Amino acid sequence: MKTIGFDISENNVGTYTREEKNCVKAPEEPKASIVWVHFDGVEKDYRYYNSDFNLNVGDFVFVSGSLKGRRGIVSRVETCFKINPEDYEKVIGKSSLFNLKGHWEHMLNLMVSTGDDAPTPEEFRSFAKPVNDKEYVIGEGLSFEVGDTFDADDKIVHRGIQYCNEGKVLYLDVRNGTGTAFVQGETCYEVNFKVHDGMISEMYCDCPYGGPCKHLVAVSVTLNALCVDFGYNPEDGFTSMSASLFYAILQRRDSIDL
Ligand SMILES: [Zn+2]
Repeated sequence: MKTIGFDISENNVGTYTREEKNCVKAPEEPKASIVWVHFDGVEKDYRYYNSDFNLNVGDFVFVSGSLKGRRGIVSRVETCFKINPEDYEKVIGKSSLFNLKGHWEHMLNLMVSTGDDAPTPEEFRSFAKPVNDKEYVIGEGLSFEVGDTFDADDKIVHRGIQYCNEGKVLYLDVRNGTGTAFVQGETCYEVNFKVHDGMISEMYCDCPYGGPCKHLVAVSVTLNALCVDFGYNPEDGFTSMSASLFYAILQRRDSIDL
């Protein structure tokens, strides 16, 4: 056995390398770290303890604590540390990034694709939301004609339209008569609906409000803009993403197959 670090003769260089390699952990094993996480609209980055994932700057994560349910982005990783884990909130999920393939058109604050290769609702869900183990009870869903909307409180309609303008409808997909959308609120909420013969039916949101909420308004207004103003046909299917999220993901070029 050779002592590492003191014998600098050329013959031993290879040996050092090999011994060092034996000390490196397998890459699949999570490496504990303290990470700084940035959240949209939150002024300063907060620190979290991570023991479950291999994290790098730019990774999207979910955390425990008051920002639970929000998707944050890792802005700094520190692996040299000594902490009491009880003092820290934790990284509880790593959001899986998807491929941005296909042809996309820029419409207002949206990017729209009519190809089959756009990210699927399942792919977007595992990017946008931590695992949801809640159970729901569903009543009668909303129904209305494409181009029309439904009755809701004025305040809620106003907030829903604001959500559209602020690009909070992160993703909206219609394929084979089934619609799925994700809207960024306190956390990312999922909206589901059916489309058939120019009618929207069985429209629900999974937010705690329960009834006709601002997320449903935001999705119906976006749907109307895409179908009525821009002429996309829900029968043919399309996928839209918020332009700001689209470009944020594009910046992660190293992990995206274009
Ligand atoms: Zn809602």
